[in-house]
Amino acid sequence: MKNFILFGPPGAGKGTQAKIISKNFNILHLSTGDMLREQKDDPILAPYMSSGKLVPDEVIIEMVFKRLQRDDCKEGFLLDGFPRTLLQAEKLNEFLRKNNKKVDGVFCLLVSDDIIIKRLSGRRVCPKCGGSFNVNSMPPKKENVCDFCGAELVHRKDDMPEVIKERISVYEKQSKVLIDFYDKLNVLLKLDGTLNPNVIFERISNFVKNNVK
Ligand code: AMP
Repeated sequence: MKNFILFGPPGAGKGTQAKIISKNFNILHLSTGDMLREQKDDPILAPYMSSGKLVPDEVIIEMVFKRLQRDDCKEGFLLDGFPRTLLQAEKLNEFLRKNNKKVDGVFCLLVSDDIIIKRLSGRRVCPKCGGSFNVNSMPPKKENVCDFCGAELVHRKDDMPEVIKERISVYEKQSKVLIDFYDKLNVLLKLDGTLNPNVIFERISNFVKNNVK
């Protein structure tokens, strides 16, 4: 069984790494940000998301646990964007314990604030296939058009400068404590998020080989 968490501040490269991990380990990638964006017109959720604040714990916890009970998570899963608060992490442990499961690895991508700001302000995403580009470092072949499916790329509302600052501050105040939480459980692997994604995956893969039965 491989139950993993991909952790890190916004813009650390979680989405890119998640694709590599889920493909190589053949496990389901569950991004709470993507799940919530599917409900972006929900009048209760939208204000949290567009301002960079976290949606209430009880809402996200119920959504994630419902999803984890489905058959396609039986062989393992990769959570991306969850947990993000201490309560979410404690509830996740409780939920997994009840289902005779546990968190097997937490891969923590670390990058500095100035890199986060650079990455997020230049990010353009494809609303159709999830492709991700960067106008500075990885532009699409044709301006504003997805290389993979031809859809028009969007600049996420929460990738605007004021919201980026709020998201970094939310991470510092509410999410960063989870590094210690998982370190104490001996499941944490810290990674330099500026390394090449394939190098990062190689380190994750070695960690899994050596630590996950
Ligand atoms: P992300 O794409 O992971 O950066 O998530 C986008 C937005 O969705 C966040 O800024 C939050 O508003 C919301 N969100 C995603 N995951 C969570 C979570 N675990 N807890 C609370 N809010 C979340």
